[in-house]
Amino acid sequence: MFPGADEYGVEVDVDADEVDRLLSVGPDDVEKPQSVSFSRNVFVPLTTACRYTCTYCTYYDVPGQATLMSLDEVRDVVRMGADAGCTEALFTFGDEPDDRYTEIHRQLDEWGYDDILDYLAAACEVALDEGLLPHSNPGDLTREQLADLAPLNASMGVMLETTADVDAHAGNRRKTPGQRLNTIRAAGEVGMPFTTGILVGIGESWRDRAESLLAIRDLHERYGHVQEVIVQNVVPNERSDFERPSIETMRRVVSMARAALPAEVSVQVPPNLSEAASLVDCGVDDLGGVSPVTDDYVNPDYAWPALQELADIADEAGVSLHERLPVYERFLPSEDSAVGTGDECEWLRGPIVERLRTDDVHGERLRSVARGDGPLSVPDQANRTQS
Ligand code: SF4
Repeated sequence: MFPGADEYGVEVDVDADEVDRLLSVGPDDVEKPQSVSFSRNVFVPLTTACRYTCTYCTYYDVPGQATLMSLDEVRDVVRMGADAGCTEALFTFGDEPDDRYTEIHRQLDEWGYDDILDYLAAACEVALDEGLLPHSNPGDLTREQLADLAPLNASMGVMLETTADVDAHAGNRRKTPGQRLNTIRAAGEVGMPFTTGILVGIGESWRDRAESLLAIRDLHERYGHVQEVIVQNVVPNERSDFERPSIETMRRVVSMARAALPAEVSVQVPPNLSEAASLVDCGVDDLGGVSPVTDDYVNPDYAWPALQELADIADEAGVSLHERLPVYERFLPSEDSAVGTGDECEWLRGPIVERLRTDDVHGERLRSVARGDGPLSVPDQANRTQS
């Protein structure tokens, strides 16, 4: 049983023989995909407050310094993204701010919100209003919290990172593998298309990596909700000096991910942190969300590649490149058209389906990307950044 799993009642089936088999997998054991995909997004760092203090993280700010975007600021950013042809509003922030963040709670209260998740729901509504599909990563959530946010998100995510207990999750307030597995399970229970992943190089062993991938597979096999698994290497930064894993390490881990996961689950590497072109033949078929307009606030030292650079990565790897929505095709409403015509949809709720079907310039952009004929162009705004 993984650390913290008992507390959350999470039973994940990871067979020791399967772990051994996965540990023997290398790049020669997997096939190169025919194409790689990406999603064009804007990054919306709603707050930099987080109750945890993971040692590799430069995202969070301590109480007194943490920021909280107003909804007007959110609207400005997502509108800029929509103008630049984006389809995704990426709301990523840490776990719910604890009591130490008095200023954040006071501000939310003044604006009339119960907590940061209540506020996130309002921010998602702004994104939908401006023509983007929200994808939220607000840390660990209960099933009830996920159910509340589900109608306003095309997909959501949380990084498992690892099933091991590592010093990198240091301090009195530390997230546990059991808590993360519980969130991934809860997403499956509410039927939310989900993104998760592992973080490589934070003190985990090779066996931990194999177990983490098989734990994700086990949860996906129960619910069918995992759309992609990110294999992300740690990078040195101003708060830590973790060594960046070698390309040989990453090639082996990516191969293990491809071998462990069913074909419908994409394997993603972030092209601003990894040598993506050298990993495609190990089974990478997605390059994640790439922003033509906003910085990567989680890894601010590592700039997003411009869209043309993604095309170069695909060229170098000998595969084609195509744009996708933040929710993968198999979760879209029906087969009648790019986003369907019927009222029923197993995975997406009313506001998302309505956004996809609205007869306006944004709906047309979303549908053309869903059909696979969205313009893969590098807009003038490429490389424009927001401070
Ligand atoms: S990695 Fe996530 S949970 Fe950990 S401190 Fe950073 S924002 Fe918080």
